[in-house]
Amino acid sequence: MDCLFCKIITGEIPAHKVYEDENFLAFLDINPVNLGHTLVVSKIHHRNLLDLPENLASELGPLLKRLAQTAKTATGADGLNIIWNNEPAAGQLIYHSHVHLIPRFADDGFEHWHGKIKPSTEELTEIAEKIQKSLQN
Ligand code: AMP
Ligand code: ZN
Repeated sequence: MDCLFCKIITGEIPAHKVYEDENFLAFLDINPVNLGHTLVVSKIHHRNLLDLPENLASELGPLLKRLAQTAKTATGADGLNIIWNNEPAAGQLIYHSHVHLIPRFADDGFEHWHGKIKPSTEELTEIAEKIQKSLQN
């Protein structure tokens, strides 16, 4: 498979690796929002969160917490965004599951969520019910 992140995992393409274990690799984003912007990828190729096996998802939670804390300390950041783009509509460009850890500084000037909608109470109620029902299946 012609996958850039698989090639980073095998070492075919170089990257600034910061962490590695049996199931995950973390390396610096080549085009960071801020210095220290890190990508955490599953070693086995999965497209994104939506097809990531449950066991890897649960293993990833504590690892993200650890890497987030370390990245904040190491960079001296004031805060941190954790972003996971899933599918093109959500801005996913590389189809190998990865989580962005982005150190943020109080004065870095970056914004996110450029657009926001203003739903009615009925719309909020309707979508909340749909999500609750889907979770029961
Ligand atoms: P996404 O939009 O979530 O798919 O993000 C893909 C990310 O991969 C972008 O932030 C890119 O800057 C990053 N990226 C692309 N090529 C490389 C590379 N060779 N090494 C490290 N990061 C990369
Ligand atoms: Zn891959």
